[in-house]
Amino acid sequence: MKKSIFIILALTLIFPALAPKAETPARTNQSQASPTDKLNPQIQKIVREISASNIEAIIKRLVGFGTRHSLSETESDTRGIGAARRWIKSEMERYSRDSGGRLQVEFDEFIQEPMRRIPNPTKLVNVVATLPGKQAESKDRIYVVSGHYDSCVCSQDVLDATSDAPGANDDASGTAAVMEMARVMSKYEFDATLVFMTVAAEEQGLLGAAHWAEMAKQKNLNIAGMITNDIIGSSRAEDGRIDNTHVRLFAEGIPPKSELSPEQVALLRTGGENDTPTRQLARYIKEMGEKYVKDMNVTVIYRRDRYLRGGDHSVFIDRGYAAVRMSEPNEDYKHQHQKVREENGVKYGDLPEFVDFNYVAQVTRINAAALAGLALAPAAPGNVGVEAFRLENDTTLVWEANKEPDIAGYQIVWRETTAPFWQKKVFAGNVTRYTVKGLSKDNYLFGVQAVDKDGNASPSVYPMPARRRSR
Ligand SMILES: [Zn+2]
Repeated sequence: MKKSIFIILALTLIFPALAPKAETPARTNQSQASPTDKLNPQIQKIVREISASNIEAIIKRLVGFGTRHSLSETESDTRGIGAARRWIKSEMERYSRDSGGRLQVEFDEFIQEPMRRIPNPTKLVNVVATLPGKQAESKDRIYVVSGHYDSCVCSQDVLDATSDAPGANDDASGTAAVMEMARVMSKYEFDATLVFMTVAAEEQGLLGAAHWAEMAKQKNLNIAGMITNDIIGSSRAEDGRIDNTHVRLFAEGIPPKSELSPEQVALLRTGGENDTPTRQLARYIKEMGEKYVKDMNVTVIYRRDRYLRGGDHSVFIDRGYAAVRMSEPNEDYKHQHQKVREENGVKYGDLPEFVDFNYVAQVTRINAAALAGLALAPAAPGNVGVEAFRLENDTTLVWEANKEPDIAGYQIVWRETTAPFWQKKVFAGNVTRYTVKGLSKDNYLFGVQAVDKDGNASPSVYPMPARRRSR
């Protein structure tokens, strides 16, 4: 061993190009260990308790209602959307009883007036289960996870409310993910509030989610992040390839509006267009998901959604909230929105036989790890700035102190301007100003996270240029 080291040293003296390149820049005061590196045992337990067989049972039960079309009948106890929503609510109430009644389950219902895909006034009902946060400083911070429980055969007829519309993948898979998370996570305590939501009328125009999101906006609720799970059920591509180790996470940058907010202008002026709250949420979900769920990869896609398609995250983005969509990596359109039938030996229809329940469980675990991390962590720090009133080669970041009592400090993260995900980090301690020596803000993108005493970190915040010395 010693001999080989000697030979390498000797060779590098003779051929300096063989020597390992010193990392540039050398003056970075970055420490190696961070309190955020360790695994949180509570999150590990939650991830382990997510059950593929529970998810399978939920999906098959939802398919058993025949159709869950938003215009289908509501009186029957065995068929139609009314029976489906009453069953979802009763299951959520069972989870609530099993967890000491902390999970608050309710119908969020309203009459939808006629519109493009709703010919007559129709009662639409979301099932909403809320797990209130336990920390006074955090309980008003809310994270929402959703799936839509309605189904359709809209490839044939968007108003067909009587044909079988099993919707096993679209979107009993997402509904089952939300219900299973509600079951498991309601047994634990979190600082912030979690809302587990199964919504109606996604297929009629995102109507259920829009109703709830609009209520949230009117009440000025602090929805700090939203994930919709829609079509997370199949690991099999149209051409038969199997990919059960990836999930797509659609995350938009700056929304395409004709007017930009001052924050968006500041992002664009400083090359921060990739550091919107939605993109920071996506980075966080990818990091937490891959940290806690072995063999799974989160493929972040810089788009709101797929071409010609939409989802319930959209109505949250449109109201200024950070929101993303999870979907399987390869879709098979024979098994979405189709009337159940066989043509030339090819089976059409969104049936349970085309769902990979273990895969749904893996995607659910990614959701659960990210949501648990978000709800255990402090809020993302406020008023984050980068000092920009003198020419210098160091980078000084400033921010406001968080108000939570369990704050341990703040972490600085950075990456090259062309890199999608954080590359380096340094724990700054419990301070509100920190200089990263030897790294110029001209050459890197920075972020600041708040970290609590258990090592739970918030998503990162992009620093806006601070023009004056503030402290
Ligand atoms: Zn869907």
